[in-house]
Amino acid sequence: GRSAALRARMEERLLAARFRYINERLYTGSSRDAVELFKSDPDAFQIYHRGFAQQVGRWPQNPVDRIIQRLRQRAASLIVADFGCGDCKIADSVRNKVHCFDLVPLTPRVTVCDMAKVPLADESVDIAVFCLALMGTNLQEILEEANRVLKHGGTLMVAEVASRFEDLRAFMNAMAQLGFKSVNK
Ligand code: SAH
Repeated sequence: GRSAALRARMEERLLAARFRYINERLYTGSSRDAVELFKSDPDAFQIYHRGFAQQVGRWPQNPVDRIIQRLRQRAASLIVADFGCGDCKIADSVRNKVHCFDLVPLTPRVTVCDMAKVPLADESVDIAVFCLALMGTNLQEILEEANRVLKHGGTLMVAEVASRFEDLRAFMNAMAQLGFKSVNK
């Protein structure tokens, strides 16, 4: 009994360490590196998502719920693109048409692709969402892709942990340069 409990605890710790390692790699490499990472290690995605869910479960609020709340305040006719959709909670929770993009399909709703290049026409969506998914060092390319698919006057919603930003003001300035106007922070 005791050795089984010890073993379970050690396995849990190893999984947590693997999650942190994968998470770090996603944030320090390009989105193309992320594609390669999950291709070369199929287990990595399951481990990543288990660890992700565990971590977010400990937070007082899951940002995806705030995004869902915000979306419900807008018209259901608006078309949404969810970049790095994970388990597609947004698509499952709103009446809007939601395009779900991720590297690996956790659900059948997911279109598998690198979010730096999504299979959508120019100016085809009203709202683009990055919920804890603004990963990859080629951020500019990814945000330009969101800009490309957004209709003129469309909305970009970003939820990230504060520690993700070395300098939030610099980020906001860079966003302005990309053509996004801050309406709510
Ligand atoms: N938005 C979801 C999941 C966040 S976890 C939620 O809030 O619950 C971050 C997600 O981004 C992961 O599912 C990861 O696979 C995805 N992701 C990371 N890099 C990506 C890329 N280059 N292209 C597509 N998805 C990516």
